Amino acid sequence: MRRLSRILAVVAVTLLILVVTGAYDAISDKVHFYAGVIRLYTQAPDSRIAMPLEDVSKRAIADTWHAPRSTGRLHEGQDIFAPRGTPILSATNGFVYNIGENNLGGQTVSVIGSGGRVYYYAHLEKYAPGLEVGKWVSPRTVLGYIGTTGNAQGTPPHLHFGIYTTTGAINPLPLLTDRAAPTVTTNKPKEAKTKNKLSLL
Ligand SMILES: [Zn+2]
Repeated sequence: MRRLSRILAVVAVTLLILVVTGAYDAISDKVHFYAGVIRLYTQAPDSRIAMPLEDVSKRAIADTWHAPRSTGRLHEGQDIFAPRGTPILSATNGFVYNIGENNLGGQTVSVIGSGGRVYYYAHLEKYAPGLEVGKWVSPRTVLGYIGTTGNAQGTPPHLHFGIYTTTGAINPLPLLTDRAAPTVTTNKPKEAKTKNKLSLL
């Protein structure tokens, strides 16, 4: 018993030092992040994901999945066209996994979601202010803005959107769903209440 209380005392003092020096916050952030990523891996992948651009409907996307590209490459995603600077929203919940530049994608953001799937957003004009690796995002989070960086230079501005499973890329198109039209305030509160009740059942 005495030994146990000594160990507990050491643990308590160590925690106190970590809290006082601020190291605790950094460690706890990391632990939260890794625990969150592990939790995502254990969940089933999303069977439906939100359109990353608010005002683009799924019908507007010309299916270019696996279309031939330069040097024998196949197109591993979908291109969604929109005016330069249009906000790009996350299609899913998840953690920002990578923010970085590469030759093909230009400025890119990767988000890891349920089932360990990685959602890849490329050709960004710029990143959303304050976006950081490890940040939790939802379909309401702006990741960045439409542009033509990487090999999209000289093309009409668009988002290259890819999904990578643990075994390779899959076509995002069947999973994409249009975003609901913005909620309009009506003068029918009764109807709205009934609807809310029903959705709880
Ligand atoms: Zn593309």
